Amino acid sequence: MTYQFVPQYVKDITPYPPGKPIEEVERELGIKNSVKIASNENPLGTSPRAIRAIQKALRTLNRYPDGSAFYLKKTLSAIHRMPPESFIIGNGSNELIELIIRTFIQPGGEAVISDPSFLIYSITVKAAGGKSAVVRLRDDYSYDIKAIIGAITRRTRLIFISNPNNPTGTIINKKDYAWLLRKLPPHVIVVDDAAYREFVRSSDYPDGIDYLRDTNRNLIVLRTFSKLYGLAGLRIGYGVTTTELAGYIERVRQPFNVNTLAQTAALAALGDSVFVKKTLANNQAGLDYLYGALERLNIPFLRTQANFFLVRVAPFLSARQAFEALLKHGVIVRDMTSYGLSDFIRINVGTPAENRKFIREFSAILKTKL
Ligand SMILES: *Cc1c(COP(=O)(O)O)cnc(C)c1O
Repeated sequence: MTYQFVPQYVKDITPYPPGKPIEEVERELGIKNSVKIASNENPLGTSPRAIRAIQKALRTLNRYPDGSAFYLKKTLSAIHRMPPESFIIGNGSNELIELIIRTFIQPGGEAVISDPSFLIYSITVKAAGGKSAVVRLRDDYSYDIKAIIGAITRRTRLIFISNPNNPTGTIINKKDYAWLLRKLPPHVIVVDDAAYREFVRSSDYPDGIDYLRDTNRNLIVLRTFSKLYGLAGLRIGYGVTTTELAGYIERVRQPFNVNTLAQTAALAALGDSVFVKKTLANNQAGLDYLYGALERLNIPFLRTQANFFLVRVAPFLSARQAFEALLKHGVIVRDMTSYGLSDFIRINVGTPAENRKFIREFSAILKTKL
């Protein structure tokens, strides 16, 4: 059947490439104990405080979740010194991306996205019947803010910035950020996806929430509990914006979009400074180790402000070949071909043992290619 009633823009979507479950990959290849450094997850697990809170909350699962996320918003409000009404909570920040697009883009509406950047933006814009104007990153992988402003038309509603950018790990600096906001026409909103914000070490990083605190701006900052707090499987993230824009997005969401366990865990995780410290220390030590080891192997890579980075596997291997060879050696990495980067794989920092395993197996694979 041709299903002519399915819109062409839905048929045209290239689905987000899903990874197979680790257990399935291991069964197929006959291997065990493989390590996954492909999805920028927290290698140390989940905040123990969050786990204890979840265990308690299991007793309340007969009740609907708190649809207003009252306590979480109250705590976030105190942390960020923004009114509770300026927060929106989502079933992962990915749901917020979808809600924002549904709220502000109608069929025919446009978003400006950069390339390479997070694939979800353009997929979700397409699914809403919108169009994306694609702006290449500059040669140094920074955002081309002049080209972004230049790509705005009468129909543009959203500009997506991933800061730090997935998959390059690069940030937009303070000067460029301020310039972008200054040049923004009143019919356009910047969505600043700061999923990796906590990992940033650069002093030239603009924290979007600082730009919201004193002035009303067409800016939505997204944060997540998936990475730093190790809650990717539970699905919870939040957005901060003006109370007016937050109010519009609130109208579009389902009343119980964020489940009880996710809310409880997020609240507990915010208070887990021990786990946060451990995670950040592991990330920095892991980056130092991986950078050093790759330099010794003469393999180029991009320095990152996040918990993942790009490794150039060409000319020895294509991204696909590197992915497949590493998989057979029990290391799961991200093949960047779907991002248009067929010379690169993306890895995230693992535990020290996982990092060593990656370097060991990768060197072994390279040796057979030299
Ligand atoms: C991982 C990631 C997120 C987090 O998404 P959740 O839905 O909160 O898990 C958001 N944006 C980018 C760019 C990411 O890489």
